[in-house]
Amino acid sequence: MLTQQEDFKRSTRLGDLVPGLKKSGQYLIGPCPFCGGRDRFNVKMTDGGDLWVCRQCGDGRYHDAIDFLMRRDGLTFAEVVGQSAAPRPTAAPRPTAAPAPDLATPPADDWQWPALIAAAECADFLRGDSAAAGKVRAYLRDNRKLTDNTLQEYMIGFNPAGRMVGDGCWLAPGVTIPCMVDGALWYVQVRTTAAARAEAVDAGRKLDKYHALKGSKLGALFNADTLIGARAVFVVEGEFDAMVLSQYVPRDVAVVTMGSAGSLPGNTWARYFAAVKDIILLLDDDDAGRQALARWQKKLPRARAAQLPDGSKDVTDFRRNRGNLVTWAGAVLRGETVPADVGPQSTQAAQDV
Ligand SMILES: [Zn+2]
Repeated sequence: MLTQQEDFKRSTRLGDLVPGLKKSGQYLIGPCPFCGGRDRFNVKMTDGGDLWVCRQCGDGRYHDAIDFLMRRDGLTFAEVVGQSAAPRPTAAPRPTAAPAPDLATPPADDWQWPALIAAAECADFLRGDSAAAGKVRAYLRDNRKLTDNTLQEYMIGFNPAGRMVGDGCWLAPGVTIPCMVDGALWYVQVRTTAAARAEAVDAGRKLDKYHALKGSKLGALFNADTLIGARAVFVVEGEFDAMVLSQYVPRDVAVVTMGSAGSLPGNTWARYFAAVKDIILLLDDDDAGRQALARWQKKLPRARAAQLPDGSKDVTDFRRNRGNLVTWAGAVLRGETVPADVGPQSTQAAQDV
């Protein structure tokens, strides 16, 4: 007969709670969810349950799953074991191990390679000295509030004309935004140009404002890698907002997005939030945003909500109107009242490209 504590240790798999771990014999090895790195977090799988050690931030000894959750959530031993016991009726037959989570996989390599090359070519084009590239850089700088560093870091590019990539995948004209996690390319989003959308209408077709490269796996967590070792994270509605806000928060604060308000993180992505103590949801203050907020909080009960000052549609809009994101984010992270003078201080509308 297992005690509640033994049962808990056996049925809690650290591989389900920590992202980026790779199997090596009876070990799982990867970045530490508390302090980052590449291979300093080691999990030993034993009959009595998983044990973990971090060579960087640990004390050099192996600890169990209960210790992991105590540290991650700032809970006591009794709280961790009690929490786990509450929803599980003792009369029901107990599984000896939790079922393996259903994990998503990135697109196949024969999509990833040509897609990555195309994204890199678009990034080269955007850095080039053509008039078209200059116009798009000005739009991204003045209207999207993205610095040259950010464009470089995220490999943002511009595709001047529709083209085929790899095995018949169409890449729309526009600003290209690749999403890479743990070395894999999940999608290439394209913010299409007004000219391309007008041209499509003339040809009797419809082209949306966002049209991802065919074969992309949308619904991946943009910026997921930055969650490893982060102390806090802002969840925003789209890639542009994520890139803007990341420019103004401390290095150990992540900004991520599922690409839209309605998209929730599945098992693959929920793990990335595992060790982050402070999860801040920044979703639009409208019906869709409020519904999304409730669903996120059901999935990640530790998450709290934040709002931008009145009159700001989103992070980009706030910054475009000279809102002070450093002061705003600092106050939100400390849980303080946001000072009234953070803005917005103007009412400049969004431009198109
Ligand atoms: Zn560590």
